[in-house]
Amino acid sequence: MGGSTAAAGTSGAAVVDDRARGPMVRAVDLHRSYGSGTGAVHALRGVSFEIPRGQLVALKGRSGSGKTTLLNLVGGLDAPDGGRIDIDGTDIGGLDESGLLELRRDRVGFIFQSFGLIPILTAAENVGVPLRLRRTPAREREERVALLLELVGLAEHAAQRPTELSGGQQQRVAIARALANRPALLIADEPTGQLDAETGLSVMELLRAIVRAEGVTAFVATHDAQLLDLADRVLELSDGEIVER
Ligand code: ADP
Ligand code: MG
Repeated sequence: MGGSTAAAGTSGAAVVDDRARGPMVRAVDLHRSYGSGTGAVHALRGVSFEIPRGQLVALKGRSGSGKTTLLNLVGGLDAPDGGRIDIDGTDIGGLDESGLLELRRDRVGFIFQSFGLIPILTAAENVGVPLRLRRTPAREREERVALLLELVGLAEHAAQRPTELSGGQQQRVAIARALANRPALLIADEPTGQLDAETGLSVMELLRAIVRAEGVTAFVATHDAQLLDLADRVLELSDGEIVER
């Protein structure tokens, strides 16, 4: 990849021009509750914020503050009870199931705390999964997988399975996989939560470098103070509300 056109994942100057006007993410008055009646948990209580294009924005807040709930809404994995989310210029509340599927497949890359790699596949095959889902021709797929493994520093480990890799290496594979379809937005939910401090820092530094080099935007939940320094901006959630902007 490389260059801003790669990250946009779209072709045609008109499309890019149109979308370049607004922020990558705009959230307005988001509400999300689980359950109902007296047992209801109000995970998000009117959350509004924007994420400018090309930035790495960290989302901090203690356990239970609503971080995962918010990331799931922004990535189109879950729908809010109220409010509006625009991603890359699209009001995702207006998308039907197939529109949401396309959003998650082509425009958003997800990175989870538990890596989420497929155990029986090699590192290269794991990175190639999103490309297979999009029926990318084999030759193009192999070239892109090689480039991505190089980008995350794992070119030498392409043929290894997840159990043959360290935690940090597994998370690098997951980052490469998240980038496979040239998403505009990377969403990472405590990506360093299962790693020791030093490995976690190196994974966060990799994300930082990718955001700079590839022009992608990243929204990363973490409660590790050391990692917050690498962000362009920090949003803080407390009991379902933004307390810092
Ligand atoms: P965080 O990621 O910051 O730890 P979460 O978004 O996971 O926070 O959770 C926010 C609140 O919503 C917590 O009180 C949590 O217990 C509750 N919650 C999250 N998911 C569910 C669910 N599927 N059903 C019921 N309550 C949930
Ligand atoms: Mg969480």
